[in-house]
Amino acid sequence: MSTRPTDSHTLDSNHMQIAQDKPGIDATLAITLAGIPDDTNALVWACHKLSRESGWWTDPETGEDIDPNPTFPTKLCLIHSEISEAMEGHRKGLKDDHLPHRDMAEVELADAVIRICDLAGAMGYDLGSAMAEKLAYNQQRADHKLANRASDNGKKY
Ligand SMILES: [Mg+2]
Repeated sequence: MSTRPTDSHTLDSNHMQIAQDKPGIDATLAITLAGIPDDTNALVWACHKLSRESGWWTDPETGEDIDPNPTFPTKLCLIHSEISEAMEGHRKGLKDDHLPHRDMAEVELADAVIRICDLAGAMGYDLGSAMAEKLAYNQQRADHKLANRASDNGKKY
């Protein structure tokens, strides 16, 4: 049996996509999205604090702080290396080396999120608000509607 909700009455914090069936953002979705900025920014703060305390923002040779702007492309590469590791884990059905009770893909996705939050913290980004705004925006996008995606030149995936 599918756990995917089929109407707006089943909307909850785990099923925000149900609002795609509605024009605009309904009140229930707005309430669900309300906690995302603070919750996400708390995660950003924690990931960046732990990373900084572990020395990942300190030059090991000079002991000076690392400027996040020139380092930004390198950090992006590290993020997509985690995504690639997730793909390999999924492709081969592997368990994680460090958390062997978990799928490798699951842990590598966690690594990617941790790295994204660390970088957002270093850059001073308000990632939580950006996520809430983008989630709300995506609910209204015509090119994300299933009927439009099924049309010629629609987004197939
Ligand atoms: Mg990893």
